[in-house]
Amino acid sequence: VKKVARQITKEVRAPNQIGVLGAGIMGGGIAYQGASKGVRVVMKDIRQDALDLGLSEAQKLLNQQIERGRLTAPEALATMTQIQPSLSYESLADTPLVIEAVVEKAEVKAAVLAELETIVSSESVIATNTSTIPIDQLAAALQHPERFCGMHFFNPVQRMPLVEVIRGTKTSAETIAKVVSLAQKLGKTPIVVNDCPGFFVNRVLFPYFQAFTQLVSDGADFRHIDKVMKGYGWPMGPAELLDTVGIDTAYHAAQTMAASFPDRMSHDKTNVLDQLFMAGLFGKKTGHGFYQYQ
Ligand code: NAD
Repeated sequence: VKKVARQITKEVRAPNQIGVLGAGIMGGGIAYQGASKGVRVVMKDIRQDALDLGLSEAQKLLNQQIERGRLTAPEALATMTQIQPSLSYESLADTPLVIEAVVEKAEVKAAVLAELETIVSSESVIATNTSTIPIDQLAAALQHPERFCGMHFFNPVQRMPLVEVIRGTKTSAETIAKVVSLAQKLGKTPIVVNDCPGFFVNRVLFPYFQAFTQLVSDGADFRHIDKVMKGYGWPMGPAELLDTVGIDTAYHAAQTMAASFPDRMSHDKTNVLDQLFMAGLFGKKTGHGFYQYQ
């Protein structure tokens, strides 16, 4: 993959400015990662509090870098000024590449992507950070699907090295090249994968989550499962991972996977993930999911 990525990126240059649509866990993380690699970022959301949270999370990460002696205060300030928060689509007009990272709902993404396309130039690349929704399905909302692909980061963005670059049926080679090149500029390891629900990583991860929720339905204690998986050597167990991803995001993604692979991904509506979602316990972002957070 690295060899292919090198070949592709020989001809294109990664942009110095990007747009990020959605300032949540992922949008905020992508904005921070871009800024810390010298890329100017316009970060747009529909809510001021989401923008404020995205900025404060970036500031927190920069403060950690200062504490560890990896960054000076003026350098951190310079990084922060790379991120321009915005509530308007117009601010994205001049960005050569926009990454959509709004909620994992196909209808919301389709509306957002269609609106975005009326704002950006015809040359701009549009990428989606969707976890599971097929690129071809979202591409149907666009007039120019050749400029569209998946750019799937993992959480937390600043720590996870992999980025899946997903090629839809109509995605052009140039679009893939630009996105691969951006992923490399952001210090990530891109893998180019073909389109399908869940792409590569979530085809592996969601059956694991399903096995976990099934065990809990069978009576296992989620804390015990987490402890065992950590003992096995994973950085966190499935319950903590679901709390980190966001119970709402995982729930929507699980729906897509179950609908797409009904023979493999049964969807028992009484499972613990659905119960937490229905109760509005969305994990770390709301302070309560499987676990309680301060
Ligand atoms: P989140 O709930 O933390 O943030 C979503 C943000 O989108 C919110 O700030 C919300 O205000 C904003 N938003 C909603 N509608 C909008 C609109 N019309 N225009 C602009 N902003 C809008 O969610 P997240 O975890 O950051 O997930 C975002 C995307 O990234 C999803 O597609 C998700 O599947 C994907 N993803 C999530 C993870 C993860 O671990 N959380 C990992 C990889 C990919």
